[in-house]
Amino acid sequence: MKLHQRIWILLFVFIFMACAPQEAESTSPHWTYEGEEGPEHWGELDPSYAVCGTGTHQSPIDISTSSEKDLANIVFHYESSQVNILNNGHTVQVNYDAGSYIKLDSVPYDLLQFHYHAPSEHVIDGKSFPAEIHLVHKNADGQLAVVGVLLDEGAENSALNPFIDNLPTEKSDVQDAGVTINANEFLPTLQTTFRYAGSLTTPPCSEGVNWLVMTNPVELSTEQLSKLEELFENNNRPVQEINDRIITEDSTP
Ligand SMILES: [Zn+2]
Repeated sequence: MKLHQRIWILLFVFIFMACAPQEAESTSPHWTYEGEEGPEHWGELDPSYAVCGTGTHQSPIDISTSSEKDLANIVFHYESSQVNILNNGHTVQVNYDAGSYIKLDSVPYDLLQFHYHAPSEHVIDGKSFPAEIHLVHKNADGQLAVVGVLLDEGAENSALNPFIDNLPTEKSDVQDAGVTINANEFLPTLQTTFRYAGSLTTPPCSEGVNWLVMTNPVELSTEQLSKLEELFENNNRPVQEINDRIITEDSTP
């Protein structure tokens, strides 16, 4: 093959790769946290978002009544991960390296990513928190389990710095921040949880998500919080009706 033919092929491959992600992105309809495309309208924006409006097991919720039970604890097997970070226009997310998982009733769920909302999406007894981290896991059957960690203002949380110090300020593709993080280090020490059946808190709002909201918040400093809020503030879906659901509190660590 002649040199100019090779160059043309390389050019086509390059153009294809540059265009492909944009095409993939434009297939899911745009949504926001306020106005015409805000949470009240998510269900009408696209047929694939319908459950956002019609679902009866939606998240987040106000956790005001729960029944205590002695459940098997979540077993965390979190390793360090490269901070592969992206700003998806709704939050900042770290795609977690393979190999970290939780065990829920002895079923492993792989940790896929974590991201944040400010203020918190879950509310406890009517009390909102300044922020909430969601650690998203999936099992071999494709079922999701999300661990919610509520963040309260207080002491600096150095375990969060590899994340907070590398937040992409513009909407971005995945970037390697060149540092590592261990999600284990920003979990609360006392790992009791509220558990209930809910949904994704963003479109398409799919149900069948096992929610595990940590009973105890962890602290972060005012400075750390303002870095999160500078990028995304009010990226929290309002609380949804509980309907027939029972919230269980695993009160024994
Ligand atoms: Zn979330």
